[in-house]
Amino acid sequence: MYYEAVVKSDLATMPPVYRRKSVTAQIGSIRVGSDAPIVVQSMTNTDTADAESTILQVASLARAGSEMVRITVNTEEAAKAVPHIVEGIRKRGWETPIIGDFHYNGHILLKKYPDCAKALSKYRINPGNVSIGRKDDDNFRTMVECAVENQKPVRIGVNWGSLDQALLTRMMDENSKSSRPLEARDVMLEAMVVSALDNAAVAERYGLRHDQIILSAKVSGVRDLIDVYTELARRCDYPLHLGLTEAGMGMKGTVASTAGLAPLLLAGIGDTIRVSLTPEPGGDRAAEVLCAQQILQSLSLRSFTPQVTSCPGCGRTTSTYFQELAQQVQDYLRDSMPEWKKKYPGVEELKLAVMGCVVNGPGESKHANIGISLPGTFEDPVAPVYVDGKLKTTLRGDNIIAEFREILDNYVDNRYGSEKKAEPVGTH
Ligand code: SF4
Repeated sequence: MYYEAVVKSDLATMPPVYRRKSVTAQIGSIRVGSDAPIVVQSMTNTDTADAESTILQVASLARAGSEMVRITVNTEEAAKAVPHIVEGIRKRGWETPIIGDFHYNGHILLKKYPDCAKALSKYRINPGNVSIGRKDDDNFRTMVECAVENQKPVRIGVNWGSLDQALLTRMMDENSKSSRPLEARDVMLEAMVVSALDNAAVAERYGLRHDQIILSAKVSGVRDLIDVYTELARRCDYPLHLGLTEAGMGMKGTVASTAGLAPLLLAGIGDTIRVSLTPEPGGDRAAEVLCAQQILQSLSLRSFTPQVTSCPGCGRTTSTYFQELAQQVQDYLRDSMPEWKKKYPGVEELKLAVMGCVVNGPGESKHANIGISLPGTFEDPVAPVYVDGKLKTTLRGDNIIAEFREILDNYVDNRYGSEKKAEPVGTH
């Protein structure tokens, strides 16, 4: 059978999510493919030659939850900096695999800087620009041979912005002569699939093992992304790296990435993901990591952080009090998680509800581990708190936020603390 059930939804009412069956690749300490958890990765935007800035950004991405980080290796200075970057990251206690992103000159850099080739955990090769203007594939072969020599996996990363033009032209020509020509879009998507698969086959011929290859075929249109990955998944069992390339800024990038990745992930396609957000000027690069995590957690594929359900508010909530509480709870969870993750295994599964009034407040609160239903306009100024579905207490007065936080802290310690996991508070 092509698909196998390996990821179970934690919602009893939802069918299990099926993962496409693939081989499993080992990238440093991280396993990618088949039944391994879907891996979140990201990429730096520092100058790699500036080792110190790159180390700081990799550490920040890793702290946010990026399980692999890609850095561009575009110049001799960048290649020279790579071993120092990897060493700096390890000295800071991060085992995060560092992936080298190569375009145009990867064959020169990997050959000339063997310490760079050794230090990286994986190479990304773009088959669209590795052999521009050449009739042979010597450059590609050199890169693959470096990977074989150093026993490093490779991602053959096709991107429609740098698709192999010779291949595309040949396929377009063949299509125009066909008695039933396809749309240009379909030929382009097929060329991406062919480029990925053909180059993977060549890499195997040059000595890479089947389980040392990961494929990607990134486009910037949501419908194109779904089509190209569906076809790629149908035709191979390599692990697939998913991402909408050049997703854009802010809400556009977040929504488009989610719209593109969600149908594929729910169809079991995708073993590692990246969300390619354009950061706001001066913005935090780690936003792309949080977005990728939220996509996976919203689909019940992985858990990273406690989730807060809060209502949008309406005419029944004329003050901003409940918005402030929802924000404060969210901030408190985010600030607490680095410590909680170490101290309270499983806390990322915690579900909270912060609701604006009595209409849906008690009902939604009962579905959460801890829920609070705040008083709407004209309601009694009291806030019932539910713990594991039962009314625990009713808060009132000016100290509701602090008291709710205390209930939250006690619940987390009782439920997820090392000695006392079995019996959550509020159930007896
Ligand atoms: S729970 Fe109450 S305040 Fe929130 S959206 Fe529903 S009716 Fe409005």
